[in-house]
Amino acid sequence: MPVSSLFFDLDHTLWDYDTNSARTLRQLHQKFYLQERAVDIDNLIRVFHQVNTHLWDLTDRNLLSRDAIRTERFHRVLTALGIDNFRFSLELSEYYLAELPRQSELMGGARQLLEALQGRFTLVVITNGFDEIQGTKIESAGIGHFFADVVTSERAGDKKPSARIFDYALNRNSLLREEVVMVGDNLLTDIAGAANAGIRSVYFNPQRSGTPHGATYEINHLDELMPILSGLN
Ligand SMILES: [Mg+2]
Repeated sequence: MPVSSLFFDLDHTLWDYDTNSARTLRQLHQKFYLQERAVDIDNLIRVFHQVNTHLWDLTDRNLLSRDAIRTERFHRVLTALGIDNFRFSLELSEYYLAELPRQSELMGGARQLLEALQGRFTLVVITNGFDEIQGTKIESAGIGHFFADVVTSERAGDKKPSARIFDYALNRNSLLREEVVMVGDNLLTDIAGAANAGIRSVYFNPQRSGTPHGATYEINHLDELMPILSGLN
């Protein structure tokens, strides 16, 4: 069956999480005078990336709650940087959570891709996250008008890789699973999730890391998606 709809993951697929996070951390580093606490900005970005990736991986595997990320993330980062102050870590966490979604950088080629797909495919965001935060990111990046629907795990009541969030998105948009392709950067949540729901997938792998286990297709840049879709339709 031809493809009529694309499900897009948001973070690291369309919205450039790493760049936006680094910008937020630079703001935070200034705002909270971390230089005066002997915290180097590049070190902060590096340690945060390590801790954040680890905690999100645990969350994806249901070994940690999302709320725990909010309280644990900066505590672990500060501890690793030699500052043991839980109360201060909560202040940083609150600031980061408020400022991060206001950043607007997209992955290379994302806007051009959405413009090319617009009108030809029904575009849906399907993301593990909170309505308000993910909604703010989409609004900040100015891409909301491209999408027929934004499905968050908060709204669907289940998160990727559960088939239920994909089924929820299919039902809401009156789509058959055979006419949809999921595009995402995470092999567990996006690719295994799509497979769980019987949906074809494109593994977006800009770092060229690992093997595209379970993915129908693999791309290293977003501009490689259109030729695949043309081949299918
Ligand atoms: Mg992602």
